[in-house]
Amino acid sequence: MNKKDYYEILGVSKDATDEEIKRAFRVLAKKYHPDVNKEPGAAEKFKEIGEAYQVLSDKNKRSQYDQFGHAAFENGGASNFDMGDINLDDILSSIFGDSFGSFSSFSDFGGFGRRRSSNKPRRGEDLLMRIRLTFDEAVNGCKKDIKVKVSEVCDNCHGEGGFNPSTCPTCKGRGVVIAEQRSLFGVIQTQKTCPECEGTGKIYREVCNECHGSGNVVNNKVLSVNVPAGVDTGSQLRLSGKGGAGTNGGPNGDIYLEFQVEEHKYFERNDNDIYLEVPVTITDAILGCKKEIPTLDGNGYIEIKPGTQNYTKLKLKGKGIKEVNGSGRGDMYVVVNVIIPTKLTKGQKDLLKELADTNLENEPEFADFKRSLK
Ligand SMILES: [Zn+2]
Ligand SMILES: [Zn+2]
Repeated sequence: MNKKDYYEILGVSKDATDEEIKRAFRVLAKKYHPDVNKEPGAAEKFKEIGEAYQVLSDKNKRSQYDQFGHAAFENGGASNFDMGDINLDDILSSIFGDSFGSFSSFSDFGGFGRRRSSNKPRRGEDLLMRIRLTFDEAVNGCKKDIKVKVSEVCDNCHGEGGFNPSTCPTCKGRGVVIAEQRSLFGVIQTQKTCPECEGTGKIYREVCNECHGSGNVVNNKVLSVNVPAGVDTGSQLRLSGKGGAGTNGGPNGDIYLEFQVEEHKYFERNDNDIYLEVPVTITDAILGCKKEIPTLDGNGYIEIKPGTQNYTKLKLKGKGIKEVNGSGRGDMYVVVNVIIPTKLTKGQKDLLKELADTNLENEPEFADFKRSLK
């Protein structure tokens, strides 16, 4: 089928402004609305207008259409946009306001079927919770019991909201009622959600006293969660389907846990690497030593080579934090902090004086610095 150009359908130029497109649609929608125009083909024309407007009034869809034409919205085309999703009712009420009412004839429109909003399956709420973890819990992973307040399908009535259902006498089970309404087009027949049964077509002789008819109840629950090793501040964990209960058969929402990790007393974390500052005496730095240090895997030893300078960084490969979703580990860095002694006995001072008399200025830095004095 050769589809007509959307700009042509609305009778606007390719560079029409949003306002021009809206105005053209408004005029044509009034003219071809099936509740006012009973000529053959009017309904088809009305549908065409709605489709053109749906695309041209949306910045993204319009630019896709400009690039790819109708191919942009065909299956497997450049977009996943589904024409079946068009809800003319929403478009019209957004333009004309609620006084427009809704259309009795929409169900004849194939892809343009109007949905009763109160009956639509709706996904439950997502929840975001912040969880504090100690450094060790984050690094090693842990099991956490988390208290949540979440809506669930009512056990008492299994989500029905009541007992002993019977057909709604107001709408005869259709879920909608037809009303005559004055509007922009004079008196038109409109269809709206049945106020008696709220679109379900059923009423209950006995309302559930647990959920008071809503079908959902808010419960306090404790969720046992396995926190994987390696999470950091800001990491999120999704508990799929653990959020609020969906309505009308819609899926549950999710719970997102966002972690806040406490600082460690000695280890400093940077991504999956950890840093540890180790105090070293001047003699150990000069003569070298083996030093006992804490690591994530328990105590270990590190070798300080003779002549190690202050703030030397020693790398222990693979001794950092485990990657959350991988098999690797970060590295550990030991930063040497040479401590200059401030409390010395007379004997220690004498030894140092003796040392000072020997020539310690053989290092190239001293010669270089001397040159700065001119
Ligand atoms: Zn009803
Ligand atoms: Zn209930």
